[in-house]
Amino acid sequence: MKVSGGEAACYRIRLREPWQSANHTITVFELITARLRTDTGQEGVGWTFTVGTGGTAIAAFLTDDLLPLASGLDPALVERTWHTLYGAVRDAAPGGIALLGLSAVDVALWDLKAQAAGEPLYRLLGASRDRAEAYGSGINLNLPIPDLLAQFRRWRARGFRAFKMKVGSDDPRTDVERVRAVREEIGPDAILMLDANQKWTVADAVRRIRGFEPYDPYWIEEPLPAEDVAGHARLRAQIRCPIALGENLFSAAAFNEFLRHDAVDVVQPDVARVGGITPFLKIAHLAEGYGIPTAPHLVLELSGQLCCTIRLASMIEDLDGGNLTELEALEEPIRTADGYFTPPARPGHGVRFNWDALARWRAEAGHGRG
Ligand code: MG
Repeated sequence: MKVSGGEAACYRIRLREPWQSANHTITVFELITARLRTDTGQEGVGWTFTVGTGGTAIAAFLTDDLLPLASGLDPALVERTWHTLYGAVRDAAPGGIALLGLSAVDVALWDLKAQAAGEPLYRLLGASRDRAEAYGSGINLNLPIPDLLAQFRRWRARGFRAFKMKVGSDDPRTDVERVRAVREEIGPDAILMLDANQKWTVADAVRRIRGFEPYDPYWIEEPLPAEDVAGHARLRAQIRCPIALGENLFSAAAFNEFLRHDAVDVVQPDVARVGGITPFLKIAHLAEGYGIPTAPHLVLELSGQLCCTIRLASMIEDLDGGNLTELEALEEPIRTADGYFTPPARPGHGVRFNWDALARWRAEAGHGRG
């Protein structure tokens, strides 16, 4: 089987409500898709995403470079194909658009490979379990406390037992008040994670995190700028709360720097940002070698399947309003239930996009942000 062609598209999906963290205000979710055809008549579908910028450039990069370069390659040889493509494009951008685009191709290749094997993706990859635990996650720094508590009540009604909220308000007392209100709402047994989106210095973070410790945070996520290995190691030595990070790291080598310097407790690779399933699994297995669990960043529909394949899996993230079902991108819904994700049973990754519904969000390169 050989790749015989393909097409890419960018969809700029406008959110019903803006999302806000310590670092971003997000109003658009960009979904970038890659459909690969083979000389045997199969179609594999891959996708990647951004939180609002670069999507049309990624689609153009796929159309002009990655998809033509993939033509003629054998989807079964995913490792060789990934490195052939990465070798061809790496000088354009290490990380960023190159890897985001490559991830869409890599996911489509794995979809083809699993379809050809007649297996659901997670079983082809060597299943470790049949379902993955999920947590309710909110980009919710903008929500007043009553609305924040209402979000947590909705999650609890859906069966979640673990939750994540944003911190990093300008006034530290505001953060503590919000965390205290949430802990009172969910009770002492629920798991509560906090995400600062790279907001603080080490000194800030030590003070801030000590203020949260009475409310038993399960982890603090991205307390410092993402690439600061030494800072995270110094911080980790001064706090009791575990540190999670990795959504803004782009290679196994970058993760290894955090792991070998005792600077992280939970790694959070993003399957889209690291370049797809092929590198994601290497990162998860590398972390397992250090005894560190993986909690994938976003991309619920793939992250859930990947967590079913790795032994040392933590939880996957079900972003409120941010999974493909809630974004109305799918033909058949894929939802967590009672706090768990169960992979689709059909061969391949089983994610079927609703191309007709997506068409209204289609965006082309060269037309600005309209
Ligand atoms: Mg985060």
